[in-house]
Amino acid sequence: MLNGCQGQKEKNDLPAASKSSFLMDTIVSMKVYGEKPDKVIEEAFQRMREIENEMSVTLKSSYIYKINSNPGEPVKVDSDTFRVIRKAITYAEITDGNFDPSIRPLVSLWGIGTENARVPARSEIEEAKRLVNYKLIKLDEEEKTVVLQKPGMGIDLGAIAKGYAADEVRRIFKKHRVEHAFVNLGGNVLVVGGKPDGSPWVVGIQDPRRERGSVMASFKVKDKAIVTSGNYERYFEKDGVVYHHIIDPKTGSPARTNLLSATIICDDSFDADALSTSVFVMGVDRGLELVESLNGVEVMFINKDLEIILSEGLKNKIKVLNQDFKLVGNDNDEQI
Ligand code: ADP
Ligand code: MG
Repeated sequence: MLNGCQGQKEKNDLPAASKSSFLMDTIVSMKVYGEKPDKVIEEAFQRMREIENEMSVTLKSSYIYKINSNPGEPVKVDSDTFRVIRKAITYAEITDGNFDPSIRPLVSLWGIGTENARVPARSEIEEAKRLVNYKLIKLDEEEKTVVLQKPGMGIDLGAIAKGYAADEVRRIFKKHRVEHAFVNLGGNVLVVGGKPDGSPWVVGIQDPRRERGSVMASFKVKDKAIVTSGNYERYFEKDGVVYHHIIDPKTGSPARTNLLSATIICDDSFDADALSTSVFVMGVDRGLELVESLNGVEVMFINKDLEIILSEGLKNKIKVLNQDFKLVGNDNDEQI
């Protein structure tokens, strides 16, 4: 083990750099250890800007904007956009439409997170709901084209694009032989390797009641993606009801589960992002069932009673830091 120790000592002297910036509608920060870390970070931010420009629903130059403004017509897109839409449709299939990338008409009707946020009339919701159906998105693999088959339909990749971007950032890190890095895209966390001293990264889970950065639990990971979807990210309140930004396509309204947040842990951020939104809509029972049916995926739910519900593989791996929260359904509540 002598070699290993020497190696680690060397690694402790690795150059490091970190940077935060506002991008993809959120705060993105990263810390990178390796040679020329500033250059690597610059390239990573550049790649994220590229993905944002391709997939933003509001930028008029994006492919998504073009698809949404040309219903009925095949719109040629680049390979990034095609890949993300295809993956989003796969998740729509896996979740029986609880995740749906054609959610745009409902998202714009509710306007949550914009100055136009309001509670729409039942009839408006019904009308928009009829336009939400991922089965009406047609992909042509050869031509790399996308067609929306009904006028008024629209694609929104807000629930998955950041996950794709995080994986692309990791690809850039690997290309530059970065072995230790930490990335946070507004709640989408990705860690490469462990810390330079060989210990795991400690990832904190946001306290859903408190300001960003307040942590209520933590766990140790290497080489993982950790993504949280919560009702506290973007919302407005009216008459004591919280209307948040994750919509249940079946009701056309913000998902009415008893959840405050859902966190997914798995290898790729692409999957973790799609799944965190999915299980938030599905709720604890169906969400757990889905996660347990997938290989290498774990979930942590927090409900409105401040109970923490974990998938099998996470049990005994979480350290609860705030005693307001209680682990439930755990056979053994010994903590690390
Ligand atoms: P955040 O972007 O806040 O990290 P999510 O990954 O959960 O959170 O994505 C939420 C966004 O996804 C919404 O702002 C909206 O654009 C879109 N969205 C909302 N409901 C759904 C849904 N049922 N399926 C797919 N996308 C959704
Ligand atoms: Mg998501």
